[in-house]
Amino acid sequence: MARTDAIVLGAGIVGTSIALHLAKHGASVALVDRRAPGEETSYGNTGVIGSTVYPSAFPRRFAKLLRVALKRAPEANYHVAALPRVLPWLMAFRAASTPEHLAETARLMRPLMARAVAEHETLLAEAGAERYLRHDGVLTLYRSDAALSALWTELALAVELGVAIQFHEADRALALEPSLAPVFQAAVHWRDVASVTNPLAVTRAYAARVAALGGIVLQGEARSLRRAAGRWRVDTSEGPVDADAVVIALGPWTPDVLDPRGVKLPLAVKRGYHRHFQARGNAMLGRPVIDVENGYALAPMEQGIRLTSGAEFADRDARPTPAQLGRVLPIAQALFPLGEAAEAEQWMGSRPCFADSRPVIGRAPGHPGLWLAYGHGHVGLSLGPVTGRLLTEMMSGAVPFCDPAPYAAERFG
Ligand SMILES: Cc1cc2nc3c(=O)[nH]c(=O)nc-3n(C[C@H](O)[C@H](O)[C@H](O)COP(=O)(O)OP(=O)(O)OC[C@H]3O[C@@H](n4cnc5c(N)ncnc54)[C@H](O)[C@@H]3O)c2cc1C
Repeated sequence: MARTDAIVLGAGIVGTSIALHLAKHGASVALVDRRAPGEETSYGNTGVIGSTVYPSAFPRRFAKLLRVALKRAPEANYHVAALPRVLPWLMAFRAASTPEHLAETARLMRPLMARAVAEHETLLAEAGAERYLRHDGVLTLYRSDAALSALWTELALAVELGVAIQFHEADRALALEPSLAPVFQAAVHWRDVASVTNPLAVTRAYAARVAALGGIVLQGEARSLRRAAGRWRVDTSEGPVDADAVVIALGPWTPDVLDPRGVKLPLAVKRGYHRHFQARGNAMLGRPVIDVENGYALAPMEQGIRLTSGAEFADRDARPTPAQLGRVLPIAQALFPLGEAAEAEQWMGSRPCFADSRPVIGRAPGHPGLWLAYGHGHVGLSLGPVTGRLLTEMMSGAVPFCDPAPYAAERFG
């Protein structure tokens, strides 16, 4: 039987970063996952660290909503069978998507987002993995007048919050990314945003650093979590592990462990897909590019150009439906010369999302010694390390670097 100060359940970017911060703080830590670190949601993302100012939002224009409803929208898809279960969440998401709420969310998320790149820089340097980091920003593209007119309030808020942005007419944007076709009117270069060329390798490097600092990385089943002899216990392939504190960082699988304990928070998943492509000829992409109205991104990765999709509302464990990437592919090919696909199958993952676009970071109500870190939605890669810092500060009784109240589970009442 191993005894540690803390067990972290879930070795995605969030759990691994928490384990690393706890280990740096001097705690003995066990990082437990049924798979190897980083192989689920944290594998397949777009690799962007940082984000635009507004979170993703429920469509407000009727024409756009109709396109989604008719399954003609490239940016979103849904399973009819899942709608009754996801409807209350969608209503809450819609309520959180007014301009006022989007601005409020941007402000509440700013303390985390403002440190996202710096926290990764520190951990990447300590893990000897700086080579994965790229500091060329991200480009968001706008095709229509409607998209451009919706942009100005977001850009005004970006300026107010001190976010480094550069607005470009299409020709200036094409100077930054010459392989793009001029199918858009304008672009914003988010200059403070960074990106990584291999998200899986980043989580693996952080997990290796946990081990180098004396932590143990184990294969185990989170659902075996229980109270035993006044401590928390979980079964692993190396036998049971005990600890006074447990962090649940199971991303979209967190409810599997939390719901049976009576902590039922309103999480939904936005599933997403990716596939890698070769670039045709001498085409190059220097940074991730996001086609805002069509909800997809193209990101240069070690494996090729990664095409990632928008959101699919479906049950987490329902079979993948390849429709969405199929709708997006011709639009992406008209923007950038994508060649052969690098693999036969699409990858699918599930973004763990709360309707207010904020994660839960903090205590599990009513369960002493149980801590939560999940629901990072579209920005979990960005916020893994800063979540690790904040939670370690909370668990160790230090003064947290920011007010954690906006991320508390208690906000759901
Ligand atoms: C298409 C797409 C694009 C994205 N792009 C970006 C981006 O550019 N930037 C960004 O910041 N974010 C992005 N995201 C979001 C980001 O990937 C997620 O928010 C993040 O990976 C969530 O990390 P996590 O550690 O919470 O979850 P996960 O990475 O899913 O980790 C959870 C872990 O729990 C383990 N687990 C589950 N159940 C059990 C169990 N019973 N026992 C033991 N272990 C278990 C799993 O094996 C897994 O390793 C994107 C997501 C998608 C889908």
